[in-house]
Amino acid sequence: MLFKTLEIQGFKSFADKTVLTFDTKTTAVVGSNGNGKSNISDALRWVMGEQGAKTLRGEKMEDVIFHGTVERKPMGFAKVALTIDNSDRTLSVADDEVVISRKLYRSGESEYLINGKKSRLRDVQELLMGTGLGRDGYSIIGQGRVSEIISARDTQRREIFEEAAGVSLFLKKKADAEKQLAQAEENIIRQRDLIRVDEERLPILKKQSEKAMLASELLAQKKELEISVSVARLNEKRGELSKLNDDLLLNKGECEHYEHDIEKAEGEIEKLGDDKLAAQGRLERVRAGIQSANDELAEKRSAISVAENDLKHNEQRRDELTEQLRNAEENSRTFDTQIERINAEIAEKQSAADEYEKQANDLK
Ligand code: ATP
Repeated sequence: MLFKTLEIQGFKSFADKTVLTFDTKTTAVVGSNGNGKSNISDALRWVMGEQGAKTLRGEKMEDVIFHGTVERKPMGFAKVALTIDNSDRTLSVADDEVVISRKLYRSGESEYLINGKKSRLRDVQELLMGTGLGRDGYSIIGQGRVSEIISARDTQRREIFEEAAGVSLFLKKKADAEKQLAQAEENIIRQRDLIRVDEERLPILKKQSEKAMLASELLAQKKELEISVSVARLNEKRGELSKLNDDLLLNKGECEHYEHDIEKAEGEIEKLGDDKLAAQGRLERVRAGIQSANDELAEKRSAISVAENDLKHNEQRRDELTEQLRNAEENSRTFDTQIERINAEIAEKQSAADEYEKQANDLK
């Protein structure tokens, strides 16, 4: 099994799409420190389903996406596609060429494709199992891991070589088959136990079955009886129903009649409502008339009370004037008497004067 190409884009230091073509057998990749050699093997691990960010020399899986440089913006996704020559059918796919690809977005969304078909991580892992490739394969050995393998325990080292030699798939299949076999044997034992228990219970079950059959016959009879009772009830109910239908028809007629009466009554109610409105109008007008009459009455009453007051005042004045008149008449009478007396005195004095004048003349 040979790799044909490895396409890397946006993965670690490979910002641009880079295609490594393995036309001839490649022995080594040479380059200065830190120029991205290990990133190629990381890309291989990653596309084959690696899940540990630490194994890929990062903190979290997002670290595999090109994080940018001073001149270049970070990428939004990382993509690696590995094309494997499968003409020897090492991989159990009926194609001469198998392309496994993996894509991861910064949002965390990711996808696996096998020959352009959407697949699960599990599909990729199963495809590579036993080839020495894949997540648990030891065909890729990271820096510092060689000493780890050498110092591993015998059993661990054996597992490593088995996986690298492709035996692990068959061992796993064997283990699965043995597990299934053990399960099947356990099932047989359980079934045998159940059969034994059932055999012991057989006479009891037979009796129970006879009883059950009898019960079922009785039940069937009961059901028949119940059905005939139900049929009789049904017929009875049907009779009642047809009577109810007749009553319904009758009631319907009456109902229509009542509806007509109701309609008529409603018309009358409406008319009465109009009359009531008109009467209310009239009542309002009468009330207004009463109010204005009351106002007028109050006005008149107040005029009467003013007039009574004037009358009382005038009577008082009249009494005063009558008194003054009586006084004046009395005075007048007194004056008349005085005038008469004065006139008498004047006449007396005149006659005295006349006497004096005559005496004077005589004397002269
Ligand atoms: P060495 O010989 O020292 O082991 P190397 O050639 O194997 O080095 P790598 O370890 O593959 O080099 O690559 C390291 C380079 O990859 C570093 O320059 C590092 O900045 C760069 N790098 C790693 N991850 C990213 C990433 N997410 N985005 C951009 N560059 C990255």
